[in-house]
Amino acid sequence: MPKTTHSLEIRILIGGKLVSGEGEPHPVLNPRTGELLAEIPEATPKQIDQAVHAAEKAFLTWGRTTPGERANLLLKIADKIDADAEHYSDLECRNCGKPRHLFLADEIPAASDCFRFFAGAARCTTGPSAGEYMAGYTSMLRRDPVGVVGSIVPWNYPLMMAAWKLAPALAAGNTIVLKASEITPLTALYLGRLLADILPPGVANIVTGRGPTTGQALITHPLVRMVSLTGSISTGTHVLAAAAANIKRTHLELGGKAPVIVFDDADLTELVAAVRKFGFYNAGQDCTAACRIYAGPKIHDDLVSELGKAVASLRYNNPKDENNDLGPLISAAHRDRVLGYVSRATGTQHIKKVTGGSSVTGKGFYFEPTLLSGAHQEDEIVQQEVFGPVVSVTKFKTPDEVIRWANDSEYGLSSSVWTSDLAKGMRVASALRYGCTWINTHFMLVNEMPHGGLKRSGYGKDLSVLALEDYTIPRHVMIKL
Ligand code: NAD
Repeated sequence: MPKTTHSLEIRILIGGKLVSGEGEPHPVLNPRTGELLAEIPEATPKQIDQAVHAAEKAFLTWGRTTPGERANLLLKIADKIDADAEHYSDLECRNCGKPRHLFLADEIPAASDCFRFFAGAARCTTGPSAGEYMAGYTSMLRRDPVGVVGSIVPWNYPLMMAAWKLAPALAAGNTIVLKASEITPLTALYLGRLLADILPPGVANIVTGRGPTTGQALITHPLVRMVSLTGSISTGTHVLAAAAANIKRTHLELGGKAPVIVFDDADLTELVAAVRKFGFYNAGQDCTAACRIYAGPKIHDDLVSELGKAVASLRYNNPKDENNDLGPLISAAHRDRVLGYVSRATGTQHIKKVTGGSSVTGKGFYFEPTLLSGAHQEDEIVQQEVFGPVVSVTKFKTPDEVIRWANDSEYGLSSSVWTSDLAKGMRVASALRYGCTWINTHFMLVNEMPHGGLKRSGYGKDLSVLALEDYTIPRHVMIKL
């Protein structure tokens, strides 16, 4: 197990001060063992009100800083995250059960680069040219910050999600109150200490607490002008309803159920290696996980057999952490939910368990990496987000059929197409209704390109200059000459 070199002294950040939450304590567990790491009192509605007022006050000056000034501070944040990577890993790996080597290799650089990207992007925004579109009048476009942003993040990538929310909002000149997930608040709260040292008081406020209490106080606060959520569809629906009361801007990154379309001419070795990795990364607790495979009629049987062997070779619950490919699920309740999906699937006549399928007995919330074959389009396992280490395979006959099935989903976040015919890949990509389509790969995100969905996966973009646009408001200023 990773050891922590620092004590778990937990504070929330409000108005530049590190304080204790004054609400109900919430248990924070180590999902590898079930051990209690800390009991963290949540921020009360009164503390949320203080945080929002601190952010509103700070906005008066932060909103008028130059992009260059803000960029310098964001770059300092990025450097400090990199410098303290080991401690972030201690906290995140204990709180989420992630294999440490993967967190260090993937999530730390993604989080720090996010701050670096938005530091640069804030300094080179573009838009229509100023000009005399009416004779005798000069028009120009401004992009101004929205004001106080309330951001709410999920438990699966706590530090990275905090970076995705903080960096574009701050780069654009907004101030922010960010609520970490009550289940995994440790790295976001630790980041709060760093923000307290680098940013003026009130610019970034970091709290934790449950949705119906702390979250509710944030999303209904009248001075919060925008709510940005990464979470489930049900929370997204709730945020939208709450936002309607005073017309807040909303930005919703909700779930996903990524179709992986494998044509007969795909490179099977590459596909198997990719699904082994990207169907099971973070124990499949990922909204882009490669979890819904559609296999062409000729490649289907080999795919099931080769992928079955590859999935069975995934390593977990190994005392030597560097030998783990995945960790446990986040909680006992979530493991039971995943087991429910798998049991209902294997309880049908037609779905076969190729490998896995059970909770792991003993300490921690582990679930066996699972491959199911023979799933039908209308099955729950094909339609619903499991958010666990479970991949299903469905056989298709024609390109039209698979495009129809892939699009027959309430989700619209990400998808992939596997073929050695790039023209076919492009044709299918253009017919898919997903925020992202990868061709002959899956899962790859870059800070320069947008991430976000359509349909019930939500709207609004994280990452890229498009996120910067989401966190600003275009304004027309006209001068009579
Ligand atoms: P969740 O919706 O239960 O919780 C997300 C956050 O919302 C938490 O901080 C929670 O406390 C808060 N929340 C819950 N109810 C609330 C309320 N009534 N008011 C205000 N805040 C409230 O989701 P989760 O279980 O933490 O995360 C898993 C979900 O997130 C999955 O559906 C997953 O697909 C989705 N997700 C999406 C993306 C994406 O980029 N699209 C990324 C990661 C996770």
